[in-house]
Amino acid sequence: MADIIQLLPDSVANQIAAGEVILRPASAVKELLENAVDAGATEINLIIKDAGKTLIQVVDNGSGMTERDARMSFERHATSKIKQANDLFAIRTLGFRGEALASIAAIAQVEMRTRRQEDELGTLIELEGSRVKKQENCSCSVGTSIQVKNLFFNVPARRSFLKTDTAELKHIVDEFFRVALVRNNIRFTFHQNQKILYQLAPSTRKQRVIALFGSSYQERLMNVEHVSEAMSVTGFIGKPEFARKTKGEQYFFVNGRYIRHPYLHHSVEKAYRELIPHDTVPSYFIYIETDPGTIDINIHPTKTEVNFMDNKVIYAIIRAAIRQTLGLHNIIDTINFDVEKSLDFGPPPPGYEVKNPFDIQPTDFNPFEQSRGNKTTIENYRSRKPVTGWEKLFEKPDKEADEQPAVLIPDEDEKTGEFQLLKENVFQFHNRYIVSMVKTGLMVIDQQRAQERILYDRYLEQIRQQSQVVQQELFPMQVSFSPGDAELLNEIMGELNILGFHLNKLGQHTFVVTGTPSGIAETDLQPLLEGFLQQYKRNIADLDLDKSTNLARSLSRSLAVKSNRRLHPEEMIHLISELFSSSVPEQTPDGKRIFTVITQENIYQLLNR
Ligand code: ADP
Ligand code: MG
Repeated sequence: MADIIQLLPDSVANQIAAGEVILRPASAVKELLENAVDAGATEINLIIKDAGKTLIQVVDNGSGMTERDARMSFERHATSKIKQANDLFAIRTLGFRGEALASIAAIAQVEMRTRRQEDELGTLIELEGSRVKKQENCSCSVGTSIQVKNLFFNVPARRSFLKTDTAELKHIVDEFFRVALVRNNIRFTFHQNQKILYQLAPSTRKQRVIALFGSSYQERLMNVEHVSEAMSVTGFIGKPEFARKTKGEQYFFVNGRYIRHPYLHHSVEKAYRELIPHDTVPSYFIYIETDPGTIDINIHPTKTEVNFMDNKVIYAIIRAAIRQTLGLHNIIDTINFDVEKSLDFGPPPPGYEVKNPFDIQPTDFNPFEQSRGNKTTIENYRSRKPVTGWEKLFEKPDKEADEQPAVLIPDEDEKTGEFQLLKENVFQFHNRYIVSMVKTGLMVIDQQRAQERILYDRYLEQIRQQSQVVQQELFPMQVSFSPGDAELLNEIMGELNILGFHLNKLGQHTFVVTGTPSGIAETDLQPLLEGFLQQYKRNIADLDLDKSTNLARSLSRSLAVKSNRRLHPEEMIHLISELFSSSVPEQTPDGKRIFTVITQENIYQLLNR
C-alpha cells in the first residue's frame, strides 16, 4: 500500500492555527495592539469599521521592520522575541509565539506598511489567505501600520458565528482596555466607524483608569501598595459601597500583561468579605511585577492565563495588601452589620431557656409585628401568659371548615372560579416565600420568581404594543457606566423609553434620567440599570433572543431581584392574583418553577419517615 501521510500546505496549517488564536475580531485587535506595544511604540491608533468585521487597523510609531523581517513576520513560528527554549522563562514581551500575524494573514486580507527610522524607504506587503499578493518599497512614516480587512472572508462558518456588532465591539473595547490600562505611558486613539471612542494622552495609571471609566472613579478608588524584593503589588481597589453586580472592572496585570486568575480573584473577594453584598464584586486594578522566571505564561494560546510559581504566597500578599488599604480607610472597623429585622430563625439569644412550645398563648401573638417599646420580639414572645387547654389545637377540624378552603386557586375545571384570598391565610417566610392555604394543601410561592413572571409579561406586552407607560417624574439623576455598557444603553434607549425610562445622553458614559417606570426608588437606579445591562449582555452571549424578549427578560429579572422584601398581606394577595392571571404562572421566562404545593400527603410522609 502506498504511503498516505503528507505535510499540510502552510496555508492550511495556518488556517487551522488561526482557529485557535483568532476567534473573533477582538482577538486580532489584541494581537496587533500587543505587537505595537512590543515594538516600543509611544503612540498607537486603533481604527475599526463595523466592529472589526470589515476593517481592523493598528498604526504605531514603533521600531518598524526591515524588508526581510516584514516578509518573515507572516511566517508561522517566526518571531524576533525568543531564540531558544530558555528564553521562555525570561519573557518581557507580550508576544513570543510567532503565530499571530501568520494566523491573521491566513483568514483575512492584510496590508502592511512598515519603516525603520534608519531606512529611507519602507516596505508595503499585501497578503490574502496566506498568499503574498504584492511586495514593494513605499514611502511611509516610521513604525508599522497593519490593515486587516474582511476577517474570515475564506472561513464562512467562522464568519457566521460572529455576534452582533454591539457584542463584537464590546469584546474589542475589552481588549483595548486591557492594553490601555497598563500602558499608561502610551498615547492611544480608538476610532470606530469614523467616530472617536477614546483619545488617551500619556498619564499616570490612575489618570488612565479615570480616562477610561469616568471621573467618578476619582472618588471611588483607593490605592493598594505592597512592595517587597521579590514582587510588587500596586494599583487601585474600589470602595466597598461601589461594588457592583456587573462584572467587568476586575483587572490583574502581571509584568504589563492582562491576566485572568480565578484563584487570585478569590483572594480579593475574601479581603472584601462581609463588606459588600455577596452578589456584588468590587472593582480592582492590580498590577503585579515579578521576576519573569517565577511565572509561566505558556499555558494558553490566547495567553490570558498565567501561573505563578507560588500561587499561595501571591494569594496571601494580595489579600493582605487589600485588607491593609481597607483598614487605612477605616472601612474594616466601621462596618455596620445590617441585621435582618423581620424574622429571625437563628438560635435563641444566650440565656433563653427553651420551653414546651405549647406553653404560650398562640392567639394574639403575631411574629410579623414589630416589637414594641424597647423589648425584643423574643422577650414579648416569652412574656405571654402560659396557656391552658392547648390540646384543643389538635382537635380535628369540623367537616364544614374542611370543605371550605379559604383560598381558591383556579384549577383545570375552575379557570373562571373566583379567588377568595383572605389575608388571614397568607404569610411570608424569610422575606422570600409566600405561603398560602389552598384546596389541596399549602402553596409556597417564590416571591421573586413570581414577580419576574408578572413583570416580564407586562414589559413584553408594552414593547410589542409600543404602548408608552406612565412615568414617574424624577429630579434629574445622573448615572454613569463603563463605555461598553454606555454604548449598549444608547442602542436600546428607544425601547427603554417605552418601558418608562427617560434617559438622555450627557457625556461619553453619563446619562441623565428624568423618568422611570413607577415604583423605582431613585437610589436604586444605578445598581438597577447595571444589573439590567449585565443580564442583557449575558442573554446576548448565551441565548438567541430577539431584542424585545431580551429587554423584557433582563429588566424583569433585575427588578424582581429587588422584590425580596417584607410584604403586607394585601401585597401578597395582589401578587398572587397577578401571578395567576399571567401567561404562564407556573414558570419564569427561563423555565424555573414559581410555586409548589405541599399536600397533606407530603406532610404525612415527612412526619412518618
Ligand atoms: P510574536 O509577537 O509572537 O513574535 P507575531 O506573529 O505577532 O509574533 O509577530 C511576528 C514578528 O513580527 C514579531 O516577533 C516582530 O518581530 C514583528 N512584528 C510584528 N508586528 C510588529 C510591529 N507592529 N512593529 C514591529 N515589528 C512587528
Ligand atoms: Mg505578536
